[in-house]
Amino acid sequence: MSAIIGTWKMCYDGLCAGHALLAGGASAGDAVVRTVTAVEDDPAYTSVGYGGLPASDGRVLLDAAFMDGHTLRLGGVMGVENVRNPIQAARLLCGRETNCLLCGRGAEQFAVEAGLKMRDMRTENAMRRWREAVQQEAGRLTAYRGHDTVCVLALDGEGRMAAGTSTSGLFMKAPGRVGDSPIVGSGFYCDERYGAAAATGLGEDIMRGCLSYEIVSRMRAGVSPADACAGALAALVERKRSLGEDAGSISLIALSPSGAYGAATTLPVFPFAAGGADGVALYAARADGSPIRAVTVAELEGEP
Ligand code: ASP
Repeated sequence: MSAIIGTWKMCYDGLCAGHALLAGGASAGDAVVRTVTAVEDDPAYTSVGYGGLPASDGRVLLDAAFMDGHTLRLGGVMGVENVRNPIQAARLLCGRETNCLLCGRGAEQFAVEAGLKMRDMRTENAMRRWREAVQQEAGRLTAYRGHDTVCVLALDGEGRMAAGTSTSGLFMKAPGRVGDSPIVGSGFYCDERYGAAAATGLGEDIMRGCLSYEIVSRMRAGVSPADACAGALAALVERKRSLGEDAGSISLIALSPSGAYGAATTLPVFPFAAGGADGVALYAARADGSPIRAVTVAELEGEP
């Protein structure tokens, strides 16, 4: 039994390719990297990879991570500018005993030496949006909450699990800012004995609850992926509310070792894609807790 799940509508095409790989006997890790690579390569998706949203200084600074649920090893890159597929660098770093998380220049140098493709990740569209934002904010730049991370969790026929994330982080972020996406336990976690989880939304909030580790811990205690996502989210939201803060923007996915999946969100609609024995479909989770159901692309018009 293989299964795969990814965040946002943008992962759908890549996830279909990842799902096909799994059906052909590929590993969970290969399916994750295939799916994320497709999103990174498509400039239509403006919060991941090529064409990602720039930081306040106009640079596109990308974060990605990969975790192997069998070995619990992980790899990640932070703030890379010219690496065409940050997820591929993260995967190559996964398995190293030391130096598995690299940032900035060191991460770029690693990618070059590993023979990965490099490219200028800025598109005309991204730079136009950056120029407009700079003009609008007239020198008082604050992080605009335009973001979204592609997070993918997979289970293969051997029972192996893997997780991957990739993002440009917050639009107009401070150069050097890192969110939850490459941070183990917050943006992602995967232990194939209990399951995998990942998060998208405002990283500064997600990290406060180490939400991905929290979800997998709940699954270890026997809770379903759906209830683990809902419980972990509710606990953080309750704590934020007790501090006088609103729920914020947080969406979560999880996958169990048996291929069951779950999701939870603080948003009115959180689209995600999932594929198992019956093929791949788009779904929507909602903050009102209404049951997750399959949706069409048309129903998700305007959603990332
Ligand atoms: N979690 C990402 C970050 O904070 C952004 C997102 O997923 O929306 O960088």
